[in-house]
Amino acid sequence: MTAETVDLASRAAELDATDPLSAHRTRFVPSPDVVAYFDGNSLGRPLAGMAERLDRFVTREWGGGLIRGWTGDGPADSRSARPWMDWPGWVGDRIAAAALGAAPGQTVVADSTTVLLYKLARAAVDAQARAGRREIVLDTDNFPTDRYVLEGIAAERGCVLRWIETDPAEGVTAEQVAAVVGPATGLVLFSHVAYRSGWLADAAAVTRVVHDAGGLVLWDLCHSAGSVELQLDAWGVDLAAGCTYKYLNGGPGSPAFGYVRRDLQDVLRQPIQGWMGRRDPFLMGPGYVPADGVRGVVSGTPPVLAMVPLLAALEQLEEAGIAAVRAKSVALTEFALELVDAWLVPYGVEVASPRDPARRGGHVTIRRPGFRELLPHLWERGVIPDFREPDGIRLGLAPLSTSFTEVHAGVSILRDVLTEHA
Ligand SMILES: *Cc1c(COP(=O)(O)O)cnc(C)c1O
Repeated sequence: MTAETVDLASRAAELDATDPLSAHRTRFVPSPDVVAYFDGNSLGRPLAGMAERLDRFVTREWGGGLIRGWTGDGPADSRSARPWMDWPGWVGDRIAAAALGAAPGQTVVADSTTVLLYKLARAAVDAQARAGRREIVLDTDNFPTDRYVLEGIAAERGCVLRWIETDPAEGVTAEQVAAVVGPATGLVLFSHVAYRSGWLADAAAVTRVVHDAGGLVLWDLCHSAGSVELQLDAWGVDLAAGCTYKYLNGGPGSPAFGYVRRDLQDVLRQPIQGWMGRRDPFLMGPGYVPADGVRGVVSGTPPVLAMVPLLAALEQLEEAGIAAVRAKSVALTEFALELVDAWLVPYGVEVASPRDPARRGGHVTIRRPGFRELLPHLWERGVIPDFREPDGIRLGLAPLSTSFTEVHAGVSILRDVLTEHA
């Protein structure tokens, strides 16, 4: 081992020893064959104790309360913390407080991100079209679902898509947005943290630019929630949606969250008018009357069971605090870049993420032709990153579950595999 290698290994150990969040790492279910999990930004790890939580929910709250759980009328020992009917708003408010920088009454848990993006975007597009604003601004490097949803809405409502061409190694800037918005702008949708590059958009500045032009903005927070600090209220954000199975550790397919700024709640109408978003749903009355507030975003029966693991994960985030999580996230990506520069750049690997930590979210993408072929070798040796077309390996470093030693081990195996197979 070279002096530099020894130095980096001891740095990793030192960073772990002084990590104020290190205790959180031990609370996850172990994955014995995994040396380095670099996909916590894609599917967070399960917390140990989740099985017991689910078991308790099934036997007591579901089994004991049965249908009475919806209204909280079961025997005392069967009652959930809140009647299940209230979970979309109750869990939404917990996400808002722990991760979004949003006051209560503006966030619900429902559907999937894709469906919520559709519902919120359609609501905004319709309201804006009535004012003659028929352009939807988006960027070429946004996550596929965002682009497809907007393409569908544009076709459905006769709107025009205005594409911003983004550098896949960076992301959208307020200047780029200022250049395309104007009197025809209806809705603008971007990812706050770009799924490919990790670019952390200046949401406050972009929102301001869009508002100055009279547009509404919808932020996709999939790679932001639980990883970077958000101030939706302070930034004046109109709408937002995101998933809970990435940094929020809610489990595969856990439901999404949607945010609607308070003063827009009575103005915007989402298109899936279901009974669970109606005022007094159990009256089953004629005609749809939206429930007050953000509840109107809900369409059908809330995914209660799928929120049980999410609640456990939220408790952990509440305890850790998003500021500490973000601080560790920055330290993790800085350290990963240091390792990449020392070990991989000499082999022609390029960093395709922002170097400035203030403009970088929780992951780092590196590129090199032939990376795809290395993937099976990495998996075989217990290193699990993910691959993004055309030749990017994404190192997602979930702060609550990832150690610096793990980053060191994973990148060193990547270096070994690269030298063996390059
Ligand atoms: C993961 C992700 C999604 C996922 O949407 P689903 O409906 O949950 O499949 C959407 N947008 C972005 C930016 C993502 O990273």
